[in-house]
Amino acid sequence: MVGAACAYYAAQAGLTVTVIDRGPVAGGTTGTGEGNLLVSDKEPGPELELALLSVQLWHELAASLPSAIEYEAKGGLVVASSDDGLRALRGFAARQGEVGVTAHEVPADGLGELEPHLSPGLPGGIHYPQDAQVQPALAAAHLLKAAASQGRNQPRSRSRPRLRLRLGEEVTGLLTGADGAVRGVRTATGEVRAPYVVNAAGTWGGDLAKLAGVELPVLPRRGFVLVTEPLPRVVRRKVYAADYVADVASGSAALQTSAVVEGTAAGPVLIGSSRERVGFDRSLSTEVLRRLALGATALFPVLAGVRVMRTYTGFRPYLPDHLPAIGPDPRLPGLLHACGHEGAGVGLAPATGLAIARCLTGGEPPVDIAPFAPARFGPEPLGPGPRAA
Ligand SMILES: Cc1cc2nc3c(=O)[nH]c(=O)nc-3n(C[C@H](O)[C@H](O)[C@H](O)COP(=O)(O)OP(=O)(O)OC[C@H]3O[C@@H](n4cnc5c(N)ncnc54)[C@H](O)[C@@H]3O)c2cc1C
Repeated sequence: MVGAACAYYAAQAGLTVTVIDRGPVAGGTTGTGEGNLLVSDKEPGPELELALLSVQLWHELAASLPSAIEYEAKGGLVVASSDDGLRALRGFAARQGEVGVTAHEVPADGLGELEPHLSPGLPGGIHYPQDAQVQPALAAAHLLKAAASQGRNQPRSRSRPRLRLRLGEEVTGLLTGADGAVRGVRTATGEVRAPYVVNAAGTWGGDLAKLAGVELPVLPRRGFVLVTEPLPRVVRRKVYAADYVADVASGSAALQTSAVVEGTAAGPVLIGSSRERVGFDRSLSTEVLRRLALGATALFPVLAGVRVMRTYTGFRPYLPDHLPAIGPDPRLPGLLHACGHEGAGVGLAPATGLAIARCLTGGEPPVDIAPFAPARFGPEPLGPGPRAA
C-alpha cells in the first residue's frame, strides 16, 4: 500500500518509477490487514497530522479511482464501558478537536440510532465522522494502475510509461557509486539503476535497510482478524471499545486484545483486534480468536449467532516509538524510507506517498516529517556499507 502510494504521487509529479516486489501486489501486510482510515485512535501529534492529511487525500483519490476499492466514508464510533471511561474519551476527543478532528459525543440514548444492534446499557461514546475505509489490496492495485496511466495524455513524442512493475523479483542489495550515493538496486535477476531508492518494504523494511548498511529496527507486531459470513448491514461503522487506543499505543510484546467490529460494503463483518510481538509466527492462536469473538459479541450480541467464515493473520510493521520512518536517509544519500507504519499503513499511505514525492522532486513535504526521521534509532551507518556498483 505504502509503496503503491509513493509510486502514484511520484509518477504524478512526473518521475519515472520502478516498483519492485518479491511477491504479488498486496502480498505483504497490506493483504492481511483491514482498511480503516482512522483519525479517531490517534492522539494529537505528528501521526495525527499525517492521518488528517491522508483522510483528505483518500477522499480525493476515491473520487478518481474505481468504486472497486470499496471506499466508504462511514465514520467511526468509540464506545465507553463506564462513566469514567466516557470522561476519558471526552477529554481525548477535546484535545483532538483542537487540532482539526471532528468528534461528537453520543449520549447513551443516542447510540442505538447510530448502531441499532449495539449492546444496550453502554454509557455513551464518541462519533468520528472523518473515519473511513477502503479494501486495501484493491486500493493498492488500483493506485498502481492509476500511477501507470500518468503521463499517457502527453504529446506522443513525450508519452512514456511512468511506472514499471517488477513483481516476483527480490531486492538483494543496493548499488552505490564512487561518491557513496545510491545508484539503484540489485535484484535476483539483475540490476535496476536509479538515482533514488525508496524503502517501502513494510515489516521487512529493517532487512532492506540492513542491505543498505543502515539500522532501522522494524519488528513484526502480529494481529488476527475474524471474518464473518456476509450479513445485511448489522454493523454500520467501525465500532470499537475505548481500550483499543491504549492497546495501539502500548510498547508491550505481550498479547493485547480489544473489541473492534466493523461492517463492510461486501457484507462480512471484520472482527479484531489483537497485538503481540511473537516474531513471524503464523500459527493459529485459538486463545486470541476466542478473545476476539468474546469482545465482539459483548459489543454486538447479534453476532453470537453468526458464523465465522475465516480468520487470517498479518504482521504490522512496528517501530519502537510507533511512528513510521519517512524521508531521506542522511546516512546514505539517495536512499529514502517509507515504512514502519504499524497498524495504520493503509490510512497513512497517501500522505506518506505525497511527502516522498515532494522529497524526490525537491519540494516541501506537505507535513513536517522531522518526527519520522529514519536515522532516529541509529545515526551512524552500520559496518561496511553496500558495495559500490
Ligand atoms: C490484522 C491487521 C489489521 C490492520 N488493520 C489496519 C487498518 O485497519 N488500517 C490501516 O491503516 N492499517 C492496518 N493494518 C496495518 C497495515 O496493513 C500496514 O501498516 C500496511 O499494510 C503496511 O503497508 P506497507 O506497504 O508498508 O507494507 P507491505 O504491505 O508489507 O508491503 C511491503 C512489500 O515489500 C515487499 N518486500 C519486502 N522485502 C522485499 C525485498 N527484499 N525485495 C522485494 N520486495 C520486498 C513485500 O513482498 C511486500 O509486498 C493492519 C495490519 C494487520 C496485521
